[in-house]
Amino acid sequence: MTQTRTAAPPGLMPGLMMDRPLLVTQLLSFAAQFHADTEVVTRTVEGPIERLTYAAMWARTQKLANALIGLGVKPGDRVATLAWNTGRHMELYYAVAGIGAICHTINPRLSGDQMRYILNHAEDCVLFFDLTFADAVAENCKGANSLKARVALTDAAHKPAQPALSDVLTYEELIAGHADTFDFPEFDENTAASLCYTSGTTGNPKGVLYSHRALMLHSFAVCTSATMGLSVHDRALPVVPMFHVNAWGMPYAAPMSGCNLVMPGAKLDGPSLFELMDTEGVTCSQGVPTVWMALLATMREKGRKPKALQRVLVGGAAVSEMLIDAFEKEFGVAVNHAWGMTEMTPLGVVNTLKPKFLDQPRDQQMPQKLKQGRAVYGVDLRITDEAGHVLPNDGKSAGHLQVRGPWIVKRYFKSEETPLTVDGWFDTGDIATIDPDGYMQITDRAKDVIKSGGEWISSVDLENAALGHPQIAAAAVIGVPHSKWLERPLLICVAKGPERPSLQEMNAFLVTKVPKWWLPDALEYVTAIPLGATGKIQKTKLREQFKDFRAG
Ligand code: ADP
Repeated sequence: MTQTRTAAPPGLMPGLMMDRPLLVTQLLSFAAQFHADTEVVTRTVEGPIERLTYAAMWARTQKLANALIGLGVKPGDRVATLAWNTGRHMELYYAVAGIGAICHTINPRLSGDQMRYILNHAEDCVLFFDLTFADAVAENCKGANSLKARVALTDAAHKPAQPALSDVLTYEELIAGHADTFDFPEFDENTAASLCYTSGTTGNPKGVLYSHRALMLHSFAVCTSATMGLSVHDRALPVVPMFHVNAWGMPYAAPMSGCNLVMPGAKLDGPSLFELMDTEGVTCSQGVPTVWMALLATMREKGRKPKALQRVLVGGAAVSEMLIDAFEKEFGVAVNHAWGMTEMTPLGVVNTLKPKFLDQPRDQQMPQKLKQGRAVYGVDLRITDEAGHVLPNDGKSAGHLQVRGPWIVKRYFKSEETPLTVDGWFDTGDIATIDPDGYMQITDRAKDVIKSGGEWISSVDLENAALGHPQIAAAAVIGVPHSKWLERPLLICVAKGPERPSLQEMNAFLVTKVPKWWLPDALEYVTAIPLGATGKIQKTKLREQFKDFRAG
């Protein structure tokens, strides 16, 4: 249960241990020394596979640090990246933070307006970009006045040809002439190391500024067996992008644990991932459910899994029973559910089963496996009601999920307002239950929950139930005004084929899965459900589209 601290008692005696700051650069320097021949393999954007050892990457990182100083980058400056998961992007993570500057990863799926907004808001001084994004850079850098240099993450032979990019440098030329040694300074571990903006489904994107300390403590957590259990025996392929919350910490945790990394570059479709995992002997991988659906289709086509694949971590959105069953029963690949968010560096909970659940038959285990999981050490969790009272961890009471810990946001970049509760917790905007064993389950986003006559209906549960209908390809549920109940659910669907089940037919199907009073009052068909930059349903767009809709 939640613990609160009283003021420090008088007479405390300081410990007598060294006060060495936790700085991320130490991770790569450590790997270069103790895991010197461990590999970072990249499917480059240009095409070929490139292999670097941690020792070689460390040497290149030092060249880059010298080059950044040469470009005039100073401590506290923001250096932007618009890049896939690659070795070069990882070198940027380390060199930029190592010189005391801040690596600002930009999500290339943002709209032009959002990209311009965050380039200006962050006041980035240099932009490094992969060739895939050359057009976006040519278009969106107009008006980004703080940018002093733009660097294409490639070599001279692949320099972009667009006239608007005639001034760009290339990465390999930039680092070529520099020494491969750099004396990285030592500074306070609370210094900022990287910056990532939330996807801004409501209002403008907000910058989350990660400190060295937060990233280091998060890495320790990622390596433990309760989370990803990384080791020297692993070859990990992070599908989750380095432009979205540090690829769930993998570029830091891998060198910490001596695990090999396989970086997929720009090709994230099922066949490309399968081929890379298979040839590179990937043992574990991390990504959102849609990625695993695509890989599943390829595994089914080929009738086998990538040969060494043992386990996948699924987060970013809820995993379905179908996906867990297919991976585990058809192919013998373990699936672990996880939850987190940009504001949490991102890891919050991971689902590993306690021994008592392992003895249960599979169908009884499943409800437990579908939960998002138990807190990772370092993250405190609680749920509260509307008035802020803490609710019991009984697995039934659903409330506002709040978190606290050393890798959780305190304030957004350039914002004076505190996003925390009066007693210092961060409200995640999720609605969840926590069971007596500590397993947390998200039931909805607070802003998406449908408040019908004072009771809450989970839009997520309704969507998942609707998706189980054989004729439904995609589904979203929003609350619409109702004269008696205030709000009632409107189900919005994309049909798989020409058949469009009626509201009565859908409700006859849904009533087997959800309480009767949850059944949607109306059903509308659309050609596509709008998705945001991180692949999540944009309910704000749907609310706008159906703003005049009334349920009664
Ligand atoms: P944003 O898209 O707002 O930047 P993030 O990418 O940081 O958000 O994602 C955080 C949100 O994603 C969480 O608050 C939660 O709503 C959702 N989410 C993340 N993991 C899961 C999961 N395993 N199950 C359900 N929802 C999840």
